[in-house]
Amino acid sequence: MKKVAVITGGASGIGLAIAKRFIAGSIKVIIVGRDIARLKAACRTLGENSDFFSCDLADLHAIPAMVQTIIDRHGRIDILVNNAGINLKKPMLEVTDDEYQKIILTNQTSAFCISRAVAGIMKEQEEGCILNISSMASIYGLPNVIAYTASKAAVEGMTRSMAVELAPLGIRVNCIAPGFIRTNMSSVALDNDPGRKNRVLARTPMGRLGKPEEVAGAAYFLVSEEASFITGVVLPVDGGNSIGF
Ligand code: NDP
Repeated sequence: MKKVAVITGGASGIGLAIAKRFIAGSIKVIIVGRDIARLKAACRTLGENSDFFSCDLADLHAIPAMVQTIIDRHGRIDILVNNAGINLKKPMLEVTDDEYQKIILTNQTSAFCISRAVAGIMKEQEEGCILNISSMASIYGLPNVIAYTASKAAVEGMTRSMAVELAPLGIRVNCIAPGFIRTNMSSVALDNDPGRKNRVLARTPMGRLGKPEEVAGAAYFLVSEEASFITGVVLPVDGGNSIGF
């Protein structure tokens, strides 16, 4: 029987690369996002072992019904990848309360909410893996992304807390902290800000942006049996950015 993975934000960028890697590894994939046309297009690329569910994860009340529908259709959930995220690049003094809350809601609270629902199912199955996606913003002080930074630091704390609570239930919880990876999100943040882009490259020992596929390889490892004794870790996939001088 194929394992079933739910990947939030799986229709683009890093999430789509993870979906492709999982399918190549014989895992059935359900991608979640808001843009139905993009979800359908991604599923056409991913093929018959894929399905999609359209949901705005910032609407927390919609999440339990979404998880139940996935169970009704596919029978189980073995892997959850909390990858959906949004960014807001703006000086801290100009960020409104609503803007701040929207980032926290999408990047962190919704990840808690879907993890709680899915962990209940994994508990019945007596096994499962949850993989969160944080960011370099959680490691060092990055200006002009205050809410994003707070949300991603919380995702890492939540990873460790969930890992210790869920380990006795047979559920592993890990996190990947991607460095600067070439996607739409990083293009928006870097392409019109050459100063920031140069700083990123200068402190990345490998001297380049990462590819979504390079995050996907690490994701596949962390949810596989090869990582059966690994829980609660935050793995940088960053070309050395987090330790660069
Ligand atoms: P993308 O913008 O390509 O992907 C983000 C995905 O999240 C989209 O598919 C989007 O789908 C989905 N999403 C956003 N908001 C919601 C929502 N409210 N409900 C459901 N889905 C939502 O960016 P990346 O692939 O670059 O980012 C993926 C993750 O990696 C993010 O968590 C990001 O913070 C993290 N990351 C990225 C880095 C990079 O350099 N690219 C570096 C570090 C971390 P839709 O619009 O259809 O809803």
